[in-house]
Parts: sequence; structure tokens; C-alpha cells
Amino acid sequence: MTVYQNLIPRFIKYVKKETRSDENSQTVPSTPSQVEFARELVTELTNLGLSKVHISQKSAYVLATLPSNLAKDQQVPTVGLIAHLDTADFNAKNVSPQIIKNYDGKSAIQLGTSQYRLDPHEFPNLRNYAGQDLITTDGQTLLGADDKAGVAEIITAVEYLLNHPEIKHGQIQIGLGPDEEIGTGADHFDVKEFNADLAYTVDGGPLGELEYETFNAAQAKIKLIGKNVHPGSAKNVMVNALQLAFDFHAQLPSDEVPEKTSGRQGFFHLLQLTGTVDQASMTYIIRDHDRDKFEARKDLLRQVARLLNAEYGQKRVIIDLQDQYYNMREVIEKDLMVVELAKKAMEDLQIKPVIFPVRGGTDGSKISFMGLPTPNLFAGGENMHSRFEFISLQTMQQAVAVILKTIQLIAKQNS
Ligand SMILES: [Zn+2]
Repeated sequence: MTVYQNLIPRFIKYVKKETRSDENSQTVPSTPSQVEFARELVTELTNLGLSKVHISQKSAYVLATLPSNLAKDQQVPTVGLIAHLDTADFNAKNVSPQIIKNYDGKSAIQLGTSQYRLDPHEFPNLRNYAGQDLITTDGQTLLGADDKAGVAEIITAVEYLLNHPEIKHGQIQIGLGPDEEIGTGADHFDVKEFNADLAYTVDGGPLGELEYETFNAAQAKIKLIGKNVHPGSAKNVMVNALQLAFDFHAQLPSDEVPEKTSGRQGFFHLLQLTGTVDQASMTYIIRDHDRDKFEARKDLLRQVARLLNAEYGQKRVIIDLQDQYYNMREVIEKDLMVVELAKKAMEDLQIKPVIFPVRGGTDGSKISFMGLPTPNLFAGGENMHSRFEFISLQTMQQAVAVILKTIQLIAKQNS
């Protein structure tokens, strides 16, 4: 029996609550089920004995405080622990998890009565879990370990601290927010209200993941304006908006696309293309870890638009560029303590830190740029956002241990 006996029941209880977010919704949070889950967490955190438990009016985050138990004259940084309540854009109704005890690391796992199996031939990551207990789906839904695992791990860690007053810690702030999966939740996060000195999102993947580098991200919406006339008398008159779209796209480097890049290579990703001769539109996302290269990519898009407009002698290409988030490394690099502490916590627990640049963003990318350095810790989930999602009980316990160890290391810091 584990020391964190409520961890798994808590996690199972959470994943059974449908909290899928909806990018077409105008409300914050985007779905009522997230509000319902947030209210239940308020009750749970209050019953555990945390202070100032409430749902923030500003951010819709569930906020709670665990006061410091250090002597009054001992000032240490306040640590924030952040996770998200919503699940990705995949069926999340009637999540019905199954537990595979002592998995052998090689056989295929039948997912409920569905046609799907978790097969190590298809998912070699299963081989890392020989001897562990896995929680999977029944093949009909996602699991929602992303990020119910993070929520359960954070709450279990503070529960442990409440039950073990002999463990010394500074003030801890908890923030459980909506709508991470639709990329809007952290927009409303209020760093002043949260009032931490450093923070961690607990939203990463397998054991040891520690992320403090993300993409810089922008979106470009491009409108192409054609001139439609009868094709029989179109010579030198017609401007085909669809051809404009092809011409635009042809100016971009064809090997700098998601399907041909990895590691630290950036890309232009054409997400959407619709139109008629008369008018067309394209949406690109632009991603690059390097800020200068990111800016150069945006410049290239502007330049292509300018060239095409010059060629036609009028504005036929209208480009609307919006930055979405930035590489948090830019902020965190100024003081790597927040990363070093988590790294040391893992090493103290004989967990090998796995640090690599994320090809994506985290809530921490936005929160870091709001002034609160917030790297991402592993929560344990694998194959996220799909029916093949699974998580290991042992990794979840390790995640709780890393959170607790990091908090203890911070309590030894003198600020
Ligand atoms: Zn997540």
C-alpha cells in the first residue's frame, strides 16, 4: 500500500467527471461541466483544511492556500502549483477507467469491449512500464490524465503536508484552472492575485519530464481578394483568389512544416484553406523556439504579402498576425533556480530529469511572461488526447514525491 492512499481513488473520481472544454464557446470557463468540477474541488479543498479556498472572479481558477508552517522570521519563496481542469477535444462522456495491475511490459492490453488495444508494437512506450500498474480507458473515451493527474497529484501532495506537520514548508498557492486545451485558460490568470514567487504547472508527460522551453507562437489569418469574371473573357482581367493562395503558399519554405521538422526546428503550418475565385482565406500557425527566427518567420509572411500586392498593384492579400505565446525560457533563464530546484528534487529521488524543448506551449508559457516563472513538471500521462491515453500509478506517486521534495528544497532556501 502506498503512502498516498487517496491518490488513485481521487484520480479515478476526477476522470469520471466530464470536463471537456469547447473552443467555440464564448463563456469563461468554456463549459458548465468545468464550473461544476471547480465547485466540487472547492468543497474538497475546504474539507481538507486549506485556507482562502475560492473560485477567482477574475480568472475562474480554483485558488487555495496552504500557509507556511515555518517560524515567523523564516522567509522563503511562496510556491505555486498549477494544473488544469479541462480535457482535450475528444469524447469524455462516461470515462470508465480500467486498472491493469503488474503489467508485463509486452502484452497488448484490451481496452474494454471496444475494438481497440494498447499494443507495444504500436505504442513502444508501454515497454517502459513492466511491473507497474496502469490505468487505461475502455477504448470509448480519452482518460483525462491530462490533466486530472496533475490535479490529483497536487491535492494529494498538500493533503500529505496537512497530515505531516513535521515537514516544514513555506506558503503554497494552488491554482486549478479551466480551458488549457483550448489555449485560453491562462489568459485570465492573475499573477498578483495568485501571489507566488515561483510556480510549476503539473501537466507534463512521463516520469522525469521537466520543461522550461516552449515554442514562440503566432497565428496568421490571410485574406485573399480575387476578381471574378466570366472565364471566357477572363484574360488579363480575372484574379483568382485560390491561385493567390497557392502563390502565397509557394513562397514559404516547403520543408519547414510540422511533418518535416523536429527538435528545435520551427515551422509554418497551414491549418485551413477555403475559398472561391472571388475570395479565399488561409490560416497559418507559426512556431519557433528561437525568438529571432520566430520574428523572421512573421516578417517573411508580411514580405510575401507585400510582394504579391506589389505585383497586382493593389491590396489583394491582407494579413492579420497575432502572437499567441512566447518561449518561457526567455523569462526563466534569468534565474534558473526554479528549474534547478525541481531537477535536484528529482535527482534526490533517483528520477532522471528529462529536459527537452516542448514543441508546443503550456499554461506556464503565458504565466511566465506575466512575471511568474512557471516550468512544467511531469504528471505521468501517455498518449494524451486519445482513447489510447494511459498512466502508471507508480509515476503518479513519483509526481507527488517530486512536488513534496521540491517544496522541501524551497523551504531550505533563504530569500
Ligand atoms: Zn494538459
